[in-house]
Amino acid sequence: MRPLADLLADPVCALDDDSIAAVVAKEFGFHGVVRAHFDSERDQTAVLVDEHGDERVVKVSHPAATVEEVDLEGRAAVWAQQVDPVLPVAVPLPTRTGDRYARTPRLIRLYQRLPGQASRDGATLSLSAVKNYGTAVARLGRALRGFFHPAAQRRSLWHIEARSQIAAMTGAIAEPVGRGLVTAALDRFERTAAHRWPELRAQAVHADLTLDNLLLDSADSICGIIDFGDLTHTALIADIAAALASVGATRTGADLLSAFAVFLDGYTAVCPLEPVERLVLADTLAVRAAITVTLSANRRDSDADYLHSWDAGAWSLLGELAATDPDDLAAAFGVPRTSASTAQLLARRQAVFGSVLAPLTYGQPLTPVRGSGVTLVDSDGRTYIDAYNNVPVVGHAHPRVAAAVADQTRLLSTNLRYLHPRAIELAERLVSTMPANSGLDTVLFLNSGSEATDLAWRIATAVTGRTGAVVTDFAYHGVTTATAALSPEQWRGDWAPDHVERFSVPRGPDTRGITEAIGRLVTRGHHPAAVFVDPTYTSDGILVPGSRYHRQLSTVAHRSGALLVADEVQAGFGRSGDHLWSFIGAGLQPDLVTLGKPMGNGHPVAAVICRRADVEELSAQTEFFSTYAGGPVAAAAASTVLDVIADERLVEHTAAMGELLSDQLSGSGHWAIREVRGRGLLVGVELDGIDTSVVLDEARRAGVLIGCTGPRSDVLKIRPPLVITPDQIKRVATVVLAAIERAGGEDHRRNK
Ligand code: PMP
Repeated sequence: MRPLADLLADPVCALDDDSIAAVVAKEFGFHGVVRAHFDSERDQTAVLVDEHGDERVVKVSHPAATVEEVDLEGRAAVWAQQVDPVLPVAVPLPTRTGDRYARTPRLIRLYQRLPGQASRDGATLSLSAVKNYGTAVARLGRALRGFFHPAAQRRSLWHIEARSQIAAMTGAIAEPVGRGLVTAALDRFERTAAHRWPELRAQAVHADLTLDNLLLDSADSICGIIDFGDLTHTALIADIAAALASVGATRTGADLLSAFAVFLDGYTAVCPLEPVERLVLADTLAVRAAITVTLSANRRDSDADYLHSWDAGAWSLLGELAATDPDDLAAAFGVPRTSASTAQLLARRQAVFGSVLAPLTYGQPLTPVRGSGVTLVDSDGRTYIDAYNNVPVVGHAHPRVAAAVADQTRLLSTNLRYLHPRAIELAERLVSTMPANSGLDTVLFLNSGSEATDLAWRIATAVTGRTGAVVTDFAYHGVTTATAALSPEQWRGDWAPDHVERFSVPRGPDTRGITEAIGRLVTRGHHPAAVFVDPTYTSDGILVPGSRYHRQLSTVAHRSGALLVADEVQAGFGRSGDHLWSFIGAGLQPDLVTLGKPMGNGHPVAAVICRRADVEELSAQTEFFSTYAGGPVAAAAASTVLDVIADERLVEHTAAMGELLSDQLSGSGHWAIREVRGRGLLVGVELDGIDTSVVLDEARRAGVLIGCTGPRSDVLKIRPPLVITPDQIKRVATVVLAAIERAGGEDHRRNK
């Protein structure tokens, strides 16, 4: 740390103009006269003009400056310029002997005079200029990423790391309210950010790229980056804070927050921020402003006018930061808002969504805020094992899928009217996973399972020219008008569409149910266009009628002239633990396959896989295009999910974990468990005489999330992300069994 005395001292023994001109002529060979001086906190900075009107800027360092520091600043500028030549960095010109500075009578550097104007008021910058500013700061940071110099470990009082010295200097702020703002900002940083500081990305940064050191032309384009005098090795966000302090200096309210957000848009277009960096940025910015006003208050002498010129802006910023709702401030920096209280959210949910939306799961609503793998963390910081959600098939927030989506979003998001390899490759890959002789050779992308099933229905009606559909008793296939009609699970009251018939899933190879359903349909004048089957019967209570049954069912469906649709929206992507697609292990021979939910691990993407000839029947009637479907982002998500499933051997893993779970549950011999059944990591536990909703709530209380299913809701549905570990499986089993035990109660148990 540079001694305080040095910094606070006057720039002693300033050189006179003639001496400056003489030394520049001697050392750099530039023969000019001093025409003007710039304000500077520590150094002497002057403009020289020669007889041709050529201008140079000369910087005479403060006597306390060291050779190492001047060398550092020069090398950093040269480095940045070489890495990113487009950046208009002011680079010190060589002396006659090729050095980047002269040594006598002081350390002296000479620069080209860059065009443009410094010291713009941040509030006068347009938002597009603010964005460009953010981009320039990020580019300079990126250019300096690989730069190393031992002197970069220097510290001055301007650096965030010097805040404890600053805290000791706040007594110089005479005005108590202002002093309170400063100490509050410093205290808050200690509470919220100091412990995180060491884990932030750090490197050599300019650390003072304020509007004083940025030259702008009349169109607000950046034409100069000057003064590496504060360059140091510190957290990247210290660099951002310095610039933000300048942008926000005299802005207020919503304008201030918009400017911050837009600046970061520019910055993150080049250099994305990590969540922890976003988290501590506001408090770092407040410390930057606190440092500015504290140093100014400690320099009451007239030579410090330059310092005092920042006072108004820094005070304004400190006041604004303190007065802004922390949630609004955090949001401007891209930090998710902290959720409101559960009671508030419940009331708002009801008011804004209305009653048709499915109710919340669990008696005590869950408010998850983040997830990782198989765990979810709620707004109280409590961790749960998520043994329910099949969408995050490769685990919540899988880093590779998240990165694929983010990277592709940053690159391009368009649609299938443009040629792009992503969707084509994905479609080819999906086709290659279909059984060899199935003829399933064509893929159509959609955005949801409902849309996929809907399109399958359209294809089936186009191919057959028929109107009837056959589904299982308690099937669920979607929310569109067509698929809601195919979803008896959602039918309310007596409503039952005339063109749909249902059949019960038998325990073994018995096709009477489906045969009779077709018969009833035909009697009503609707010949079957399609039979829809979720091969794992998730909404019917998770059933396993066996592959013989499925072969017969396929024959019956085909003989009736219907197309068979395997709805893999629930059970696809490895959940069954035998193949990627559950219909294969189930022995079904579908004509259409629908994919959805897990396909993008949370990113909306779905598909229909069918035969070319069938889809041509539809194309005789209509063109098909859906805006987002199969766009580069959706395709990136889905391809990456397939990659992860393959790389992490998740199908095999699912088989092993499913077996372990089933063994643990059925081995308990609990009186209330009628049957444990399912495939892979879709396990149903049919209960007898116990209210499953009580079991769900008990398990949730114990930190395990499960659901229930079936026409009587008497089947526990355990369906975790496939990446669940053996220990987590054991924990799930233990908790579920204990929850069943508690839900049953001692008395109930004795009576059985
Ligand atoms: N088919 C099945 C078997 C499903 O389980 C679902 C959703 N639960 C759908 C279709 C509809 O998918 P989405 O909710 O994505 O529209």
